[in-house]
Amino acid sequence: MSDSETSSTSLLEPVNGLEQGQDTDEDCEELVVDSKKTRGKAKEYKEYQSFSNYSEALYAINDELDKIQDTTWAKKNLKVGKGAKSDKQFFKCSKCNIMLYIERPKTNSRVIIFIQDEPHNHETKKGIPDKTKQIIYTMYFEQKQQPKKIQRWLREHLDDGHVEVNSVQLNNLIQNEKKKEMIVLNWI
Ligand SMILES: [Zn+2]
Repeated sequence: MSDSETSSTSLLEPVNGLEQGQDTDEDCEELVVDSKKTRGKAKEYKEYQSFSNYSEALYAINDELDKIQDTTWAKKNLKVGKGAKSDKQFFKCSKCNIMLYIERPKTNSRVIIFIQDEPHNHETKKGIPDKTKQIIYTMYFEQKQQPKKIQRWLREHLDDGHVEVNSVQLNNLIQNEKKKEMIVLNWI
């Protein structure tokens, strides 16, 4: 008898009903936050990595992410999520406007780094190396490669001292070089 009682109580026991109720509230809040987000500048973030706690994520930002982009990340604003939602601690690249944030759910210690899904643009201070320009000209004019392929190639050869270029920079380089060629042709 007591066995059946315990089993029946354990059936009734789950507090899931309550938890589900809370979940729906959270969903509503998320929707509100999302619609606000899309109204502003549409910055796209992609998941970079998840960490078991906040200090590990901080360490990754100060260590590996600094090295990858040869920059430092300055702590910016903290966006506090409503209710049981997560907080977002923003950081900005010190050499350009790329942002990242650490998403910090209030209910668990696991955190995720999200980073803006765009190449860094640091050339205003460094300039595009001549050898990168040369490769761009060769790939575009001689090998007739698509700009996207050239950008991908550069991204894969950062270790060789090449830099990433965005579409605007690439287009400017190619247009300038075309003008130069025209001048040469006119001269001949
Ligand atoms: Zn940057």
